[in-house]
Amino acid sequence: MLSIKWIRENAEVLQRAANDRGIDFSVRELLDRDRARREVRLELDRVREERNQWTRAAGEQISRGEREEAASIKLQVRAIQPRIKALEEACAQAEEAYREAMLRAPNLLSPDTPIGLTDRDNVELRRVGVPAVWQDFEPLDHVALGELHGLMDIARGVRTAGARQYYLTGTGARLHRAVQQMALDMLEARGFRLLDVPLMVRGETLLNAGFFPHGEDQTYRLADEDRWLVGTSEVPLVSYYAGDVLEGDALPTRLAAASLCFRNEVGSAGRDVRGLYRVHQFAKVEQVVLCKDDPDEGERMLQEITANAEEMLRLLELPYRVVAVCSGDMSFKSYKQYDIETWMPSRGAYGETHSSSLLLDYQARRANIRYRDADGQLRCCWTLNNTAVASPRILIPLLENHQQPDGSIRIPAALRPYLKGLDRLAPPE
Ligand code: AMP
Repeated sequence: MLSIKWIRENAEVLQRAANDRGIDFSVRELLDRDRARREVRLELDRVREERNQWTRAAGEQISRGEREEAASIKLQVRAIQPRIKALEEACAQAEEAYREAMLRAPNLLSPDTPIGLTDRDNVELRRVGVPAVWQDFEPLDHVALGELHGLMDIARGVRTAGARQYYLTGTGARLHRAVQQMALDMLEARGFRLLDVPLMVRGETLLNAGFFPHGEDQTYRLADEDRWLVGTSEVPLVSYYAGDVLEGDALPTRLAAASLCFRNEVGSAGRDVRGLYRVHQFAKVEQVVLCKDDPDEGERMLQEITANAEEMLRLLELPYRVVAVCSGDMSFKSYKQYDIETWMPSRGAYGETHSSSLLLDYQARRANIRYRDADGQLRCCWTLNNTAVASPRILIPLLENHQQPDGSIRIPAALRPYLKGLDRLAPPE
């Protein structure tokens, strides 16, 4: 969310950002609502002042002993009361209408964001690693490999919990935990503070983190409660500092959490239905950074959290590419976004495994997270986030890229310490 003062002076910039994202949002309507609430507020203040003047005049007359005049003034004061009440109600309504439009406003777009409406307009920045080319054997996909090595049981997951659910079993469950622990260790070594976070949060928390409005239908809600299951620990991580004033020299602050993520996946009906690519519940190690409202620092931190994700893929020895996400494909709260896509042989394509975003003050303004600069001024923080690893999706490239013609699966060296030294999964005899 941008400041209304800035929007008043730069309406056309915000409107262009909304148009480039393909979002139906009218800045003019927002400004009309802003004007309306200010007019009602002015009128309310004027009528209240009028009432106060009458009340003061009545008091002076009483002190002069002019009781009859005072009584007639009191009648005037009483007559104003309904008007004040009506204006107070109009004021509350106008404020709510303004707030509603303000919360729907998308973020601005960085000047280097590619403009386009679908992921076909994303721009590849780099490719790292070369996908394996197998000769003389037909590689298996992760579901077949999972069955062969006893790593997962999707049929029982569906029986227990419905579509897009799964069990990870034995070494599958160990791999799932190993990649998360490896990510946490890497982030901790790189200065991230680890948090274990609440996963059922208030609606207001999701609003402050910029997931609501827009995301309600994506989010599971506990029946009859204002509590929602988060789709990412970005939400509680950002909210950790809600309402706080941080010291400028404590920034940038780096936070990380491993958590379950719950996603309704409405709108994905029929997409990615085989295997573990798109599921309702998965685990993610997330990076969140709070920094100063400084373009150089923001850009530096975006590169840093992107590099952390790339380091994970280097350690896992997986080929990937980084794309600059275009205006229409990025989240409406992002100012600039990179996706990292890892090579998935069964898809014959790179599939998204990480998403790295700079949000400027979009979340911090809502959540009221500020810092004190060197001159003692209070300023809004900027926030960023990126995946470090999300599992089981990462198991798809891990299993598929490291499979061997003899049916075994090689475990990358960096992962072995997390699996008691296991260096390969041998096929059953
Ligand atoms: P996001 O928080 O939406 O940027 O997603 C971050 C990462 O979480 C993605 O790049 C995927 O690796 C993973 N992810 C997101 N949604 C799902 C899902 N429905 N099932 C499995 N993994 C997911």
